[in-house]
Amino acid sequence: RAKDLGGGEHFQYEPSLHKSAEERRQLEFSLRMALDRQEFELAYQPVVDANDETIISFEALLRWNSAEHGFVSPAKFIPLAEDTRLIVPIGSWVLEQACIEAANWPDPVKVNVNVSPEQLVEPDFVATVVRALSTSGLPANRLELEVTESIFVRDALVAGKALKEVMHLGCQVALDDFGTGYSSLGYLRQLSFSTIKVDRMFVQGAAQGSKESLAIIRAVVAMADSLDMTTTAEGVESFEEAELIRELGCTKIQGYYFGRPMVKAEARKLFDVPGRLRA
Ligand code: C2E
Ligand code: MG
Ligand code: MG
Ligand code: MG
Repeated sequence: RAKDLGGGEHFQYEPSLHKSAEERRQLEFSLRMALDRQEFELAYQPVVDANDETIISFEALLRWNSAEHGFVSPAKFIPLAEDTRLIVPIGSWVLEQACIEAANWPDPVKVNVNVSPEQLVEPDFVATVVRALSTSGLPANRLELEVTESIFVRDALVAGKALKEVMHLGCQVALDDFGTGYSSLGYLRQLSFSTIKVDRMFVQGAAQGSKESLAIIRAVVAMADSLDMTTTAEGVESFEEAELIRELGCTKIQGYYFGRPMVKAEARKLFDVPGRLRA
């Protein structure tokens, strides 16, 4: 690989750079029309109680089936939507749709909605949340927003103020992908997060015997307990990983082992299964 060849080889990257710049331009062109063309859909992935496996919430995950590009991964189009600020109107749509769907679910079940920093610094972000709640009739305490540590990097004050306002409405805020970004334990004291989501990287690491991953999960669980926050382990794919996470004391589990992201009709069907619902 060119990367392994050391210095002086950087010109080798140029053709692929051009290709990806052009690809990006085309993707952006399509993304601008995607909302109007109704190419978005939300998938819902269950989050279960680590001890009794009842459903506590579903995380809404955006899916884009583009006329020109087919299914595009969120890992690809979310960063593009953030760079172009298209995430603002797209994110409002996500909030409204997720709340409308969640209003159909049995009462204690929550919906988790991912929110980008670009949305939080919009002056009307709080109004957007209020509108989604009133349009859907979903009680505020059944909406949990998910943010990442990146909100603390730029415009931390503005983002923090917006989050405090939605918390005041009764919504909860989870800290997503904990440990992957610009982690600082100090961030945890700045806002009263309801949940810390432990990234799949650590779940996988711990299951493979990594002492560092184990230590990090233990530390996060201990910290969350002392700060009155809960923990969700992300990306649990097997019985063994679920067992380990339970032993480590995480409160909630999310991952393919308990359920993949699914279309809303399929998510609703889970409520028909006796015992899957939290009492
Ligand atoms: P995230 O919020 O950390 O969401 C969890 C991701 O892990 C999802 O990927 C989910 O499908 C995947 N996942 C869940 N369980 C497992 C598992 O057991 N194994 C593995 N390998 N993966 C698992 P997805 O849907 O591709 O989304 C990727 C990221 O895109 C999300 O990460 C989130 O940061 C972002 N995203 C998705 N929807 C939205 C949205 O509506 N708004 C914003 N701002 N970002 C979104
Ligand atoms: Mg998330
Ligand atoms: Mg996550
Ligand atoms: Mg993650």
